[in-house]
Amino acid sequence: RLYRLLDSRETEFASDHDAPKLSVSKGEVRFEDVTFTYSERIPAVRDLSMSIEAGRHVAIVGRSGAGKSTVVSLLLRIRDVDSGRILIDGQDISTVSLQSLRNAISLVSQHSFLFSGTIRENILVGKEGASQEELEAVCQSAGALSFIREMPAAFDTEVGPNGFKLSGGQRQRIAIARALLKNAPILVLDEAMSSVDGETDTAIGSLLNELKQEKTIITIAHRYSTVAVTDHVYLLDSGRLVAEGPAERLRRESSLFTTLFPGDRAAARTESAQIQG
Ligand code: ADP
Ligand code: MG
Repeated sequence: RLYRLLDSRETEFASDHDAPKLSVSKGEVRFEDVTFTYSERIPAVRDLSMSIEAGRHVAIVGRSGAGKSTVVSLLLRIRDVDSGRILIDGQDISTVSLQSLRNAISLVSQHSFLFSGTIRENILVGKEGASQEELEAVCQSAGALSFIREMPAAFDTEVGPNGFKLSGGQRQRIAIARALLKNAPILVLDEAMSSVDGETDTAIGSLLNELKQEKTIITIAHRYSTVAVTDHVYLLDSGRLVAEGPAERLRRESSLFTTLFPGDRAAARTESAQIQG
Protein backbone atom coordinates (compact mmCIF):
# COMPACT_ATOMS: atom_id res chain seq x y z
CA ARG A 1 0.00 0.00 0.00
CA LEU A 2 2.85 2.31 0.81
CA TYR A 3 4.46 1.78 -2.60
CA ARG A 4 1.15 2.33 -4.33
CA LEU A 5 0.79 5.55 -2.42
CA LEU A 6 4.31 6.68 -3.30
CA ASP A 7 3.72 5.83 -6.97
CA SER A 8 0.54 7.81 -7.08
CA ARG A 9 2.33 10.72 -5.41
CA GLU A 10 5.02 10.60 -8.07
CA THR A 11 2.46 10.79 -10.84
CA GLU A 12 0.87 13.68 -9.03
CA PHE A 13 4.17 15.56 -8.89
CA ALA A 14 5.03 14.65 -12.49
CA SER A 15 1.79 16.13 -13.72
CA ASP A 16 2.32 19.04 -11.37
CA HIS A 17 5.56 19.84 -13.17
CA ASP A 18 3.75 20.39 -16.47
CA ALA A 19 0.83 22.31 -15.00
CA PRO A 20 0.80 26.07 -15.46
CA LYS A 21 1.54 28.18 -12.42
CA LEU A 22 -1.25 29.99 -10.64
CA SER A 23 -0.78 33.68 -11.17
CA VAL A 24 -2.26 35.77 -8.39
CA SER A 25 -2.75 39.44 -9.00
CA LYS A 26 -5.54 40.30 -6.59
CA GLY A 27 -6.51 37.21 -4.64
CA GLU A 28 -10.19 36.81 -5.47
CA VAL A 29 -11.52 33.42 -4.33
CA ARG A 30 -14.65 31.87 -5.85
CA PHE A 31 -16.39 28.62 -4.99
CA GLU A 32 -18.90 27.61 -7.67
CA ASP A 33 -21.43 24.91 -6.69
CA VAL A 34 -18.79 22.89 -4.88
CA THR A 35 -19.73 19.50 -3.52
CA PHE A 36 -17.41 17.13 -1.73
CA THR A 37 -18.03 13.84 0.08
CA TYR A 38 -15.51 11.91 2.17
CA SER A 39 -16.06 8.18 2.15
CA GLU A 40 -19.53 8.53 3.68
CA ARG A 41 -22.57 9.16 1.55
CA ILE A 42 -23.44 12.49 3.13
CA PRO A 43 -21.52 15.37 1.54
CA ALA A 44 -19.33 17.40 3.91
CA VAL A 45 -19.75 20.38 1.57
CA ARG A 46 -22.78 20.73 -0.71
CA ASP A 47 -23.51 23.09 -3.58
CA LEU A 48 -21.36 25.73 -1.98
CA SER A 49 -20.97 29.01 -3.82
CA MET A 50 -19.01 31.89 -2.32
CA SER A 51 -17.53 34.87 -4.05
CA ILE A 52 -14.81 36.39 -1.94
CA GLU A 53 -13.56 39.61 -3.42
CA ALA A 54 -9.89 40.43 -3.28
CA GLY A 55 -8.88 42.49 -0.29
CA ARG A 56 -11.75 41.24 1.84
CA HIS A 57 -11.57 39.78 5.32
CA VAL A 58 -14.31 37.16 5.58
CA ALA A 59 -15.35 34.67 8.24
CA ILE A 60 -16.69 31.15 7.87
CA VAL A 61 -18.73 30.03 10.87
CA GLY A 62 -20.87 27.07 11.78
CA ARG A 63 -21.19 24.27 14.29
CA SER A 64 -18.47 21.71 14.71
CA GLY A 65 -18.71 19.36 11.74
CA ALA A 66 -20.44 21.96 9.52
CA GLY A 67 -17.72 21.62 6.87
CA LYS A 68 -15.53 24.65 7.58
CA SER A 69 -12.18 22.83 7.61
CA THR A 70 -13.23 20.84 4.56
CA VAL A 71 -13.62 24.14 2.70
CA VAL A 72 -10.01 24.91 3.61
CA SER A 73 -8.83 21.45 2.47
CA LEU A 74 -10.57 21.98 -0.86
CA LEU A 75 -9.05 25.43 -1.33
CA LEU A 76 -5.55 24.04 -0.73
CA ARG A 77 -6.33 20.92 -2.74
CA ILE A 78 -5.56 18.64 0.15
CA ARG A 79 -8.83 17.21 -1.16
CA ASP A 80 -10.25 17.61 -4.66
CA VAL A 81 -13.84 18.67 -5.28
CA ASP A 82 -16.31 16.03 -6.53
CA SER A 83 -18.18 18.64 -8.54
CA GLY A 84 -18.11 22.37 -9.02
CA ARG A 85 -15.03 24.57 -9.29
CA ILE A 86 -12.80 26.72 -7.14
CA LEU A 87 -11.23 29.71 -8.83
CA ILE A 88 -8.49 32.04 -7.70
CA ASP A 89 -8.33 35.20 -9.81
CA GLY A 90 -10.34 33.36 -12.43
CA GLN A 91 -8.08 30.30 -12.64
CA ASP A 92 -9.54 26.89 -11.80
CA ILE A 93 -7.25 25.60 -9.06
CA SER A 94 -7.48 22.04 -10.40
CA THR A 95 -5.61 23.15 -13.53
CA VAL A 96 -2.62 24.85 -11.89
CA SER A 97 0.45 23.38 -10.21
CA LEU A 98 -0.07 22.40 -6.60
CA GLN A 99 3.12 24.10 -5.59
CA SER A 100 2.05 27.44 -7.07
CA LEU A 101 -1.34 27.08 -5.39
CA ARG A 102 0.18 26.43 -1.98
CA ASN A 103 2.68 29.26 -2.42
CA ALA A 104 -0.27 31.61 -2.84
CA ILE A 105 -1.88 30.65 0.46
CA SER A 106 -0.66 31.03 4.04
CA LEU A 107 -2.52 28.61 6.25
CA VAL A 108 -2.70 28.60 10.01
CA SER A 109 -4.45 25.32 10.60
CA GLN A 110 -6.60 24.14 13.45
CA HIS A 111 -3.61 22.11 14.64
CA SER A 112 -0.70 24.50 14.71
CA PHE A 113 2.11 22.25 13.62
CA LEU A 114 5.41 22.93 15.32
CA PHE A 115 8.36 20.60 14.95
CA SER A 116 11.27 19.88 17.28
CA GLY A 117 13.66 22.75 16.91
CA THR A 118 13.93 26.33 18.01
CA ILE A 119 11.26 29.00 17.88
CA ARG A 120 13.33 30.73 15.18
CA GLU A 121 13.46 27.59 13.01
CA ASN A 122 9.74 27.08 13.40
CA ILE A 123 8.96 30.59 12.20
CA LEU A 124 11.54 30.69 9.40
CA VAL A 125 9.65 27.89 7.64
CA GLY A 126 7.46 30.76 6.44
CA LYS A 127 10.38 32.35 4.62
CA GLU A 128 13.89 30.97 4.68
CA GLY A 129 16.54 33.59 5.25
CA ALA A 130 14.29 36.27 6.73
CA SER A 131 16.18 38.86 8.76
CA GLN A 132 15.94 39.26 12.54
CA GLU A 133 14.02 42.52 11.95
CA GLU A 134 11.41 40.75 9.81
CA LEU A 135 11.18 37.97 12.37
CA GLU A 136 10.58 40.40 15.21
CA ALA A 137 8.05 42.40 13.22
CA VAL A 138 5.84 39.38 12.46
CA CYS A 139 6.13 38.14 16.04
CA GLN A 140 5.08 41.54 17.29
CA SER A 141 2.04 41.45 14.99
CA ALA A 142 1.13 37.92 16.09
CA GLY A 143 1.37 38.89 19.77
CA ALA A 144 4.31 36.52 20.23
CA LEU A 145 7.27 38.82 20.70
CA SER A 146 6.96 39.49 24.42
CA PHE A 147 6.65 35.85 25.49
CA ILE A 148 9.47 34.81 23.14
CA ARG A 149 11.75 37.41 24.71
CA GLU A 150 10.93 36.02 28.14
CA MET A 151 11.96 32.49 27.13
CA PRO A 152 15.32 31.23 28.42
CA ALA A 153 17.03 31.50 25.04
CA ALA A 154 14.48 33.78 23.31
CA PHE A 155 14.27 32.86 19.61
CA ASP A 156 16.76 30.04 20.13
CA THR A 157 14.61 28.25 22.70
CA GLU A 158 13.85 24.64 21.80
CA VAL A 159 10.11 24.02 21.58
CA GLY A 160 10.31 20.23 22.01
CA PRO A 161 8.49 17.60 19.91
CA ASN A 162 5.22 19.10 18.63
CA GLY A 163 6.07 22.23 20.54
CA PHE A 164 5.01 20.65 23.83
CA LYS A 165 7.07 23.08 25.90
CA LEU A 166 4.77 25.88 24.83
CA SER A 167 1.15 26.55 25.74
CA GLY A 168 -1.57 26.13 23.11
CA GLY A 169 -1.92 29.90 22.76
CA GLN A 170 1.85 30.32 22.34
CA ARG A 171 1.95 27.64 19.64
CA GLN A 172 -0.88 29.36 17.81
CA ARG A 173 0.85 32.71 17.94
CA ILE A 174 4.03 31.17 16.52
CA ALA A 175 2.01 29.56 13.74
CA ILE A 176 0.41 32.94 12.99
CA ALA A 177 3.86 34.63 12.92
CA ARG A 178 5.05 31.96 10.48
CA ALA A 179 2.05 32.55 8.20
CA LEU A 180 2.58 36.32 8.31
CA LEU A 181 6.25 35.85 7.41
CA LYS A 182 5.24 33.79 4.37
CA ASN A 183 3.29 36.87 3.28
CA ALA A 184 1.14 35.06 0.69
CA PRO A 185 -1.71 36.95 -1.01
CA ILE A 186 -4.34 34.70 0.61
CA LEU A 187 -4.29 34.11 4.35
CA VAL A 188 -6.44 31.40 5.92
CA LEU A 189 -6.85 31.02 9.67
CA ASP A 190 -8.71 27.88 10.75
CA GLU A 191 -9.58 28.32 14.40
CA ALA A 192 -6.13 29.77 14.72
CA MET A 193 -6.98 31.89 17.72
CA SER A 194 -9.05 29.45 19.76
CA SER A 195 -6.41 29.19 22.51
CA VAL A 196 -5.31 32.79 22.32
CA ASP A 197 -6.71 35.13 24.97
CA GLY A 198 -9.37 37.65 23.99
CA GLU A 199 -7.05 40.64 24.15
CA THR A 200 -4.48 39.11 21.77
CA ASP A 201 -7.32 37.95 19.54
CA THR A 202 -8.62 41.51 19.24
CA ALA A 203 -5.12 42.84 18.60
CA ILE A 204 -4.56 40.27 15.84
CA GLY A 205 -8.04 41.02 14.46
CA SER A 206 -7.22 44.68 13.96
CA LEU A 207 -3.86 43.76 12.44
CA LEU A 208 -5.68 41.53 9.95
CA ASN A 209 -7.89 44.44 9.01
CA GLU A 210 -4.78 46.45 8.16
CA LEU A 211 -3.32 43.55 6.19
CA LYS A 212 -6.43 43.06 4.10
CA GLN A 213 -5.48 46.11 2.01
CA GLU A 214 -3.10 43.79 0.26
CA LYS A 215 -4.50 40.35 1.06
CA THR A 216 -7.62 38.26 1.05
CA ILE A 217 -8.22 36.83 4.50
CA ILE A 218 -10.46 33.92 5.43
CA THR A 219 -10.97 33.38 9.17
CA ILE A 220 -12.75 30.44 10.73
CA ALA A 221 -13.65 31.38 14.27
CA HIS A 222 -15.89 30.67 17.22
CA ARG A 223 -15.54 33.94 19.07
CA TYR A 224 -17.86 36.76 18.15
CA SER A 225 -15.14 39.39 18.59
CA THR A 226 -13.08 37.65 15.89
CA VAL A 227 -16.04 37.44 13.54
CA ALA A 228 -17.29 40.97 14.25
CA VAL A 229 -14.25 42.63 12.65
CA THR A 230 -14.72 40.85 9.30
CA ASP A 231 -16.48 42.33 6.26
CA HIS A 232 -18.66 39.35 5.46
CA VAL A 233 -19.68 36.13 7.18
CA TYR A 234 -20.58 32.78 5.59
CA LEU A 235 -22.66 30.56 7.85
CA LEU A 236 -22.47 26.84 7.08
CA ASP A 237 -24.77 24.14 8.37
CA SER A 238 -24.33 20.48 7.39
CA GLY A 239 -22.10 21.52 4.51
CA ARG A 240 -24.57 24.04 3.10
CA LEU A 241 -24.35 27.79 3.03
CA VAL A 242 -27.43 28.83 5.00
CA ALA A 243 -26.80 32.55 5.46
CA GLU A 244 -24.27 35.19 4.55
CA GLY A 245 -23.80 38.86 5.18
CA PRO A 246 -22.21 41.24 7.66
CA ALA A 247 -21.99 39.83 11.22
CA GLU A 248 -24.35 42.53 12.51
CA ARG A 249 -27.05 41.49 10.07
CA LEU A 250 -26.71 37.75 10.74
CA ARG A 251 -26.96 38.49 14.41
CA ARG A 252 -30.36 40.09 13.81
CA GLU A 253 -31.64 37.71 11.14
CA SER A 254 -30.24 34.23 11.72
CA SER A 255 -31.35 32.14 14.67
CA LEU A 256 -28.56 29.63 14.02
CA PHE A 257 -26.05 32.48 14.18
CA THR A 258 -27.41 33.67 17.53
CA THR A 259 -27.38 30.08 18.78
CA LEU A 260 -23.70 29.92 17.90
CA PHE A 261 -22.90 33.24 19.54
CA PRO A 262 -25.41 33.46 22.41
CA GLY A 263 -23.40 35.32 25.04
CA ASP A 264 -22.48 37.92 22.49
CA ARG A 265 -26.12 38.72 21.90
CA ALA A 266 -26.57 39.47 25.58
CA ALA A 267 -23.44 41.60 25.47
CA ALA A 268 -24.85 43.47 22.47
CA ARG A 269 -28.10 44.16 24.30
CA THR A 270 -26.20 45.57 27.25
CA GLU A 271 -24.08 47.66 24.91
CA SER A 272 -27.05 49.09 23.04
CA ALA A 273 -28.91 49.68 26.33
CA GLN A 274 -25.91 51.63 27.53
CA ILE A 275 -25.76 53.60 24.32
CA GLN A 276 -29.47 54.35 24.51
CA GLY A 277 -29.22 55.10 28.22
P1 ADP B 1 -15.73 21.74 10.82
O1 ADP B 1 -14.36 22.20 10.47
O2 ADP B 1 -16.80 22.71 10.46
O3 ADP B 1 -15.85 21.32 12.26
P2 ADP B 1 -15.15 19.52 9.05
O4 ADP B 1 -14.97 20.15 7.71
O5 ADP B 1 -13.92 19.12 9.78
O6 ADP B 1 -16.09 20.44 9.95
O7 ADP B 1 -16.06 18.22 8.90
C1 ADP B 1 -17.23 18.20 8.08
C2 ADP B 1 -17.79 16.80 8.08
O8 ADP B 1 -16.89 15.91 7.41
C3 ADP B 1 -18.02 16.20 9.45
O9 ADP B 1 -19.18 15.41 9.39
C4 ADP B 1 -16.80 15.36 9.67
O10 ADP B 1 -17.09 14.27 10.51
C5 ADP B 1 -16.48 14.87 8.27
N1 ADP B 1 -15.03 14.65 8.09
C6 ADP B 1 -14.04 15.56 8.31
N2 ADP B 1 -12.84 15.06 8.01
C7 ADP B 1 -13.06 13.79 7.58
C8 ADP B 1 -12.23 12.73 7.10
N3 ADP B 1 -10.91 12.90 7.01
N4 ADP B 1 -12.82 11.56 6.75
C9 ADP B 1 -14.15 11.40 6.83
N5 ADP B 1 -15.00 12.36 7.26
C10 ADP B 1 -14.48 13.54 7.62
MG1 MG C 1 -12.66 22.48 11.62
